[in-house]
Amino acid sequence: MDDDNQKDDTAKGDDVFDCIVIGGGPGGLQAVVYLGRYNRKALLIDRGGGRTAHAKSIENLLTHASIPGRKIIELGMAQARSFNVRIDRSTVTAVRKQQRFTVTTREAAYHAEYVIVATGIADILPPIENLHQFFSTSYFTCVDCDGYKTRGKKLAVMGDAFESVRIAFAMRRLYTDQVVLVLVSYEPPAGYAEELREEGIGLYQGTPARITGAGRMEAIELVDGTRVPCEMIMANFGFTRNDGFLKDLDLKRAANGSIIVNHVYESSLSGLFVVGPLNTGNDQVAIAMGQGAAAAIDINKRLFDF
Ligand SMILES: Cc1cc2nc3c(=O)[nH]c(=O)nc-3n(C[C@H](O)[C@H](O)[C@H](O)COP(=O)(O)OP(=O)(O)OC[C@H]3O[C@@H](n4cnc5c(N)ncnc54)[C@H](O)[C@@H]3O)c2cc1C
Repeated sequence: MDDDNQKDDTAKGDDVFDCIVIGGGPGGLQAVVYLGRYNRKALLIDRGGGRTAHAKSIENLLTHASIPGRKIIELGMAQARSFNVRIDRSTVTAVRKQQRFTVTTREAAYHAEYVIVATGIADILPPIENLHQFFSTSYFTCVDCDGYKTRGKKLAVMGDAFESVRIAFAMRRLYTDQVVLVLVSYEPPAGYAEELREEGIGLYQGTPARITGAGRMEAIELVDGTRVPCEMIMANFGFTRNDGFLKDLDLKRAANGSIIVNHVYESSLSGLFVVGPLNTGNDQVAIAMGQGAAAAIDINKRLFDF
């Protein structure tokens, strides 16, 4: 494999892309649309099924009162194709850099002067019966995205860390006075149980087993049989980063694992850009798009060798 990489790394002309963009969500798609419109030789590698694809209705994107995430992807892919961006529907397994970058999928190895990583994150979803039936319509994982949809609803905030306590107070103050907090095993710090009571936030402790309701959410049932009535859930069980294929690169990271980037989203490895929630932790369509555009503009400038 190393021998092959060394040979491939010296490849010239048609074998080398100006830029390979990994991940075809809003961040990667916005980047390839810019690169395509610069007439750059760009390759998008995407396995499909990211967070945007799972968002049933996005309502905070300028000019769209409501748009399904899938529609954003579909429109973005068509726009990228119209500018001759090559698209490979595969999973990237490794990125290496010698003189140039080599990006490996299960089926192929590609070479490029620059790489943009836009592979996003994945929600950790606890094993709760029926969760998928309600995901993104009444089981939410992001206050920035979906907090507004909980206005006036009977809301259960669910999680297993202090962050969920904080979210419960925030939801109570911003959106609804019908909030309960379900903590799996986390004990709130001293004094918080009383503060929750004062705010009218009921506290339950236990492991959620299933969500009940046909079409409309009615309750969470805990393993011990306790029934917690609710119309919506704001859950916070964390996320994983889709960046295992970068493990050979030793990129500089913050203490929480985010990849450190500069003002144009270039990582500590020259030529490798990282856009979207892998760098900031903020997972928003508008932010990913803006970062994808900024990275592509910088790469285009650097590709001029005069
Ligand atoms: C339920 C839900 C609701 C949301 N609501 C909103 C909202 O209202 N407003 C808002 O702004 N944002 C919302 N978001 C978040 C929004 O979807 C993210 O901001 C956005 O996904 C970030 O874009 P991205 O391009 O970084 O990543 P993603 O959209 O996650 O795209 C990453 C892409 O990379 C691909 N990929 C991952 N690993 C690999 C690999 N190894 N090889 C090849 N491809 C790979 C994935 O399959 C995916 O296609 C929501 C998310 C969810 C889940």
